[in-house]
Amino acid sequence: MKKILILMSETGGGHRASAEALRDVFHERYGAQFQVDMVDLWSEHTPPPLRHMPKTYRFLVDDVPWLYKFIYEVGEKPQVTEPVMKAAAKFLQTFVSRAIRQYNPYLIISVHPLMQEIPLQVLARMKRNTPFVTVVTDLITIPPVWFDENATLCFVPSEEGYRLARQAGLQPDQLRQYGLPIRPAFARKPRPKPLLRQELGMLPDVPTALIVSGGEGMGPVGEIARAVAARLAADGQDGERSAGQLVVVCGRNQRLQEELEAHDWPIPTIVKGFVENIWDWMAACDCIITKAGPGTIAEACALGLPILLSGYIPGQESGNVPYVLKHGIGVYVEEPWQIAEVVSGWFGPQRAILEDVAERARQLGRPQATYQIVEEIAGLVGG
Ligand code: UDP
Repeated sequence: MKKILILMSETGGGHRASAEALRDVFHERYGAQFQVDMVDLWSEHTPPPLRHMPKTYRFLVDDVPWLYKFIYEVGEKPQVTEPVMKAAAKFLQTFVSRAIRQYNPYLIISVHPLMQEIPLQVLARMKRNTPFVTVVTDLITIPPVWFDENATLCFVPSEEGYRLARQAGLQPDQLRQYGLPIRPAFARKPRPKPLLRQELGMLPDVPTALIVSGGEGMGPVGEIARAVAARLAADGQDGERSAGQLVVVCGRNQRLQEELEAHDWPIPTIVKGFVENIWDWMAACDCIITKAGPGTIAEACALGLPILLSGYIPGQESGNVPYVLKHGIGVYVEEPWQIAEVVSGWFGPQRAILEDVAERARQLGRPQATYQIVEEIAGLVGG
């Protein structure tokens, strides 16, 4: 059994979801041929304060976004990141090399921008020629720290990603472009909506909006949910049926979940925390209201789910907004009352537009990307 180690970090939900996607497809396709381990080197194998990096990320992005934006922009400059990464690799040599010896992988896959140069330098100092594969999990705005010329292969999810990788010095024979790795359930044909809805405790035949904002439930989710619910309640006043129902997935944001669970909703509404079967919830809905997270956008496309973007993390998600608009797979609206207006239209007189958007999303989706990526990686180690 050959060991593969996936380096990820829980900064947001996307890196973990992509790591799980790769691990699960390895398992599905190759069974016992490979043992795939996932590790967050930052929180499990570095000393404080570095090990708190994932938690700090959550705090910065949600509570001090201007500071996060500043740090992100500084981090886009190779003249800044290169010496910092070199120093970090030196400082973390003992910790990272210990982890590598412990897992003793035959091949390493990294799905995190801050786990590229560091492990590559550590491997070089250890004189190990373990193949090292980068799987980029940003969609459009991809900072140069992702790209290291010493990677054996680098998988980029988009043409823009390919262009940026070339600009950073990677060669065409190092690069592959398939799409963002999403979990294998997104590649399966979903069960019919009414059935899924019944299973999930929803009304089977009422238009449904899903609100989700990354793994951490960031941003003004509560305000948006209340505005959409109020608008759909008003729309349904004359008829017998509700004009819509709502699902709000709060991710790991427990405070938000508690607040929304206590709310008196004017339309049928389900509030959830972090759900493991997000594909079922997505497939049961008619549109998704989300921040511009790359994972969520790729997953929505795979299921042909129209996207209403309500915000983005400045920097890393900026490019995803024009991507969604350019491909006609959704709209971008920030104000909660305007978001409610769009949903009201989509569930009412603009139903045909919603269907067109869904079709374009389906065409853009790359549900097989994870399988293609895994096959190539397995090929590197004789799978
Ligand atoms: N996600 C999930 N369950 C939840 C909330 C989110 O599985 O309850 C997943 C979602 O499907 C996506 C990831 O978390 O794969 C979020 O990634 P994205 O890139 O959209 O945003 P991030 O959280 O990384 O900022």
